[in-house]
Amino acid sequence: MKQCPHNIYIHIPYCKSKCRYCAFFSHACAEPDWEDYTDSICKEVAFWASKLNHCTVPTIFFGGGTPSLIPQKYMCQILRTIRQSFLVVGDAEITLEANPATIDENKLRDFQDMGINRLSVGVQRLNDKELQFLGRAHDTRDAIELINTAQDLKLRVSADFIYGIPGDTEKTVANMCHQINNLGLTHCSLYELTIEENTPFGKMNLNMPSNDEMAIMYQTISSNLELPRYEVSNYATPENQCVHNSNIWNGEPYIGIGQGAAGRILIDGVWYEEKGNAEIFNPLTEKERAIEKILTGLRTIRGCQLTQDVKNVIDIDWVKNHPQYIQISDDTICATNDGMLILDNIITNVVK
Ligand code: SF4
Repeated sequence: MKQCPHNIYIHIPYCKSKCRYCAFFSHACAEPDWEDYTDSICKEVAFWASKLNHCTVPTIFFGGGTPSLIPQKYMCQILRTIRQSFLVVGDAEITLEANPATIDENKLRDFQDMGINRLSVGVQRLNDKELQFLGRAHDTRDAIELINTAQDLKLRVSADFIYGIPGDTEKTVANMCHQINNLGLTHCSLYELTIEENTPFGKMNLNMPSNDEMAIMYQTISSNLELPRYEVSNYATPENQCVHNSNIWNGEPYIGIGQGAAGRILIDGVWYEEKGNAEIFNPLTEKERAIEKILTGLRTIRGCQLTQDVKNVIDIDWVKNHPQYIQISDDTICATNDGMLILDNIITNVVK
């Protein structure tokens, strides 16, 4: 039976070294057994291709970890296997997450020749002392160089940044936004620093900004960044929004491949939760899936479509009584600016 299109996320869980705030699933190992890891990815690709009857693939996203570490030969093998196994659309968005000082112009060109057309660069800060504090394995010059090289190659370029580090104020965040404006990016993401247990920062008793200060910094970003916000942490011109993430936030299915990946698969009308291991995937109830759609939809400016499954689980009375947080129209619910700030707290009220 024909299956609907699935986006593909490939997780590459290796980094040169561990950043001091990082709680992601990643190993500090710049030279892993690439052959072995590539083989396991290709096996998962083949498994899902047969389960999903070689369906259409609109986007592929290589996330990490540091996917830019993967040697050309293995990237080529993975992309070839995906193309042989699925129907990858001609204009598919294919994104690579890259860390500065892990990829040069030649490697970037090779990746571009293989079909990578979007680069997401982990910059985090544009100040060497702050980069050292975060434990990043690059300096500001490396980051700007990679952005410029990718822009010269006409790749679509995004960059990730962190705000809310100790010492940050409205002014330092505004300055960072002005620096970002000067990079000529068409997409960027700004994430609040959160301190996770079991990370070096988690053991350091850092003097973090208060919640109120963080909220002010968040508002400072939208008033100083030239790119408009389209999701809680993402900013872009309308034509440069990330198609892969937008599809997922809109509730489309995606396959997660690799050690730390997760996916949401749709087979014959039934949704499954999948955790980067082709052998294990569990059915989700309609209610569980509808709640996920609300959670991701409300993070976007576009909001969440009021389809029947969504209507069945939202508390319409609570939503109508809290227009300061959620706006409701005939076919959509959207979080307001204030709502976005406290989304995690109000979601339990939005859902019955
Ligand atoms: S580069 Fe990213 S995934 Fe790797 S250690 Fe740093 S924050 Fe974690």
